[in-house]
Amino acid sequence: MRALYPGSFDPLTLGHLDLIERGSQLFGEVVVAVLQNPGKTPAFPLEQRLAQIQTATHHLSGIQVISFDGLTVRCALDTGSDVILRGLRAMSDFEYELQIAHTNRSLEPDLETVFLATTAHHSFLSSSVVKEVARFGGQVDHMVPPVVADDLRRLFNQSFRQRP
Ligand code: ADP
Repeated sequence: MRALYPGSFDPLTLGHLDLIERGSQLFGEVVVAVLQNPGKTPAFPLEQRLAQIQTATHHLSGIQVISFDGLTVRCALDTGSDVILRGLRAMSDFEYELQIAHTNRSLEPDLETVFLATTAHHSFLSSSVVKEVARFGGQVDHMVPPVVADDLRRLFNQSFRQRP
């Protein structure tokens, strides 16, 4: 099966990567679809987010990385995806995710959304938390893949202390 994993990924965290790895074990193929949202100014431009995901998923097979705009269900149909994959960290995610899942199902009744619960030690991770820590010079190597940690250092122009 092929799962579509849509999101902003601004930037990719180890929580996202964990979901991609588990999604590929479950489904065989995962299309990571990076949302091109003209209404939002991302910290990382689209091309850079795509490159980060490509580098971080290099060790996996069956992964496609694409960008999309417009409806997620349209992107799922266009890519021949069987399910939409999303992650749940806490109750706070649940209400939002359920609303999106219901909306998508009302548009495409045959397209199911599958939720994977976060791995416990990644449950605190979000792209915004990572950016906040990096902005103030904190260590992010345990939160993001190496390529993203490097990009964050460049973005915030910080020389981080390496972990021992
Ligand atoms: P969006 O803007 O669409 O919410 P995100 O990039 O923030 O995009 O998240 C994409 C998906 O990944 C969402 O379903 C989100 O709940 C999930 N996700 C984000 N961080 C984690 C994490 N640490 N563990 C599991 N799932 C996560």
